[in-house]
Order: sequence, then C-alpha cells, then structure tokens
Amino acid sequence: MGPQDQPDYINAVAGFYSHQDPHALLKAFQTIERRQGRTRTLRWGPRTLDLDLLLYGDQVIVTDDLTVPHPGLPERAFVLYPLYDISPQLVVPGLGPLVELLERCSAEGIRRIE
Ligand code: AMP
Repeated sequence: MGPQDQPDYINAVAGFYSHQDPHALLKAFQTIERRQGRTRTLRWGPRTLDLDLLLYGDQVIVTDDLTVPHPGLPERAFVLYPLYDISPQLVVPGLGPLVELLERCSAEGIRRIE
C-alpha cells in the first residue's frame, strides 16, 4: 500500500462490541493514534499507528469524515485475510460475502505472523 520503499508493517483486525456510535469510535481511534505519538509526512507512508473502522455491524455509512465499510476493505489483502480469520462467514454490507472478496484478492506480499 502506498510508496514501495517503506519498511514492512504489521496489520491486525479486531472485533469488539461497543455502545459508542461510529463517529464516537472514529474520534476515540484518533485520540489513541495521537497518544501513540503518530507522525506521518507522506500519504500512505510509514506511520506509527493507523486505526481504521472497517465495519460497524451491518451499517453502511457515508459522511464527510467517515465511510463504512472502509473504502479500502475490498481490495486490501492485509485487511481481508485477517478479517477472514476472525469472521469467515461475514457478509460485508453492500459488498457481499467476504469469501467472494477474498477470491478476487491475491495474498501475495502478505505474511502471517504467529
Ligand atoms: P487514514 O489515517 O489514512 O486512515 O485516514 C484518516 C481519515 O480518513 C480521517 O480523516 C477520517 O475522517 C477518514 N475516514 C473515513 N472513513 C474512515 C474509516 N472507516 N476509518 C477511519 N478513518 C476514516
């Protein structure tokens, strides 16, 4: 993703329950990113931490500052494969079954870390 001359990076997907609405979650993510001393100079370049809201139940959300499902989700192997690990039966709202998205997305360039 982004410039090729950047170090390897680690991606993970987590599922959780929340009483917070999606915009409040986005704000909470941004607070955590700042607290972790996030710095970034290049778009899609190296950063200390990037937290994205991939999904929010079965909701489709399109606002100025938040799009859910996350727009990069269908084509990013480093998102789709870890998402499959925690939710193989998932149907992505507006996009269809996760397994079908995976069929169209090569795992080339990603490596599982145990
Ligand atoms: P990035 O740090 O590159 O992930 O981009 C952050 C920007 O994307 C923020 O300004 C957010 O308002 C916007 N954004 C839109 N949709 C999402 C989403 N689903 N998750 C995280 N950020 C989002």
